[in-house]
Amino acid sequence: MTTDKCVPMLSVQPKGKQKGCAGCNRKIKDRYLLKALDKYWHEDCLKCACCDCRLGEVGSTLYTKANLILCRRDYLRLFGTTGNCAACSKLIPAFEMVMRARDNVYHLDCFACQLCNQRFCVGDKFFLKNNMILCQMDYEEGQLNGSFETQVQ
Ligand SMILES: [Zn+2]
Ligand SMILES: [Zn+2]
Ligand SMILES: [Zn+2]
Ligand SMILES: [Zn+2]
Repeated sequence: MTTDKCVPMLSVQPKGKQKGCAGCNRKIKDRYLLKALDKYWHEDCLKCACCDCRLGEVGSTLYTKANLILCRRDYLRLFGTTGNCAACSKLIPAFEMVMRARDNVYHLDCFACQLCNQRFCVGDKFFLKNNMILCQMDYEEGQLNGSFETQVQ
């Protein structure tokens, strides 16, 4: 079960009885207050749990996860996804380090030659052929044997 929610925030002028702030529990005497999650907040009290930004200033929505209130940026950074790994096709969470090649993303662990499993270090050459990652050796061997279909680059 997930409790992720994207919640709208409304900036409203208080009417009638003074409302209590869900953040600090004090009465709201400001000209404007924020309404979100069926509660009322001082503009100063509705803050991102991660970066402390005032949510009323950065957008018109906030994100909740479990009991956290987050801005969009932090929510995506913590709980969003980068996409599916082109090698194992599992989802990659946004906070994980990835390798990118053309339009593909890979888990660091999945980024290896798909024929001989050789890992690549920074600066190593790798090749993409028919959407497979290849080391230089396997790539050149494949070229010689003509086992790759010609691909329009
Ligand atoms: Zn408050
Ligand atoms: Zn934030
Ligand atoms: Zn993977
Ligand atoms: Zn290889």
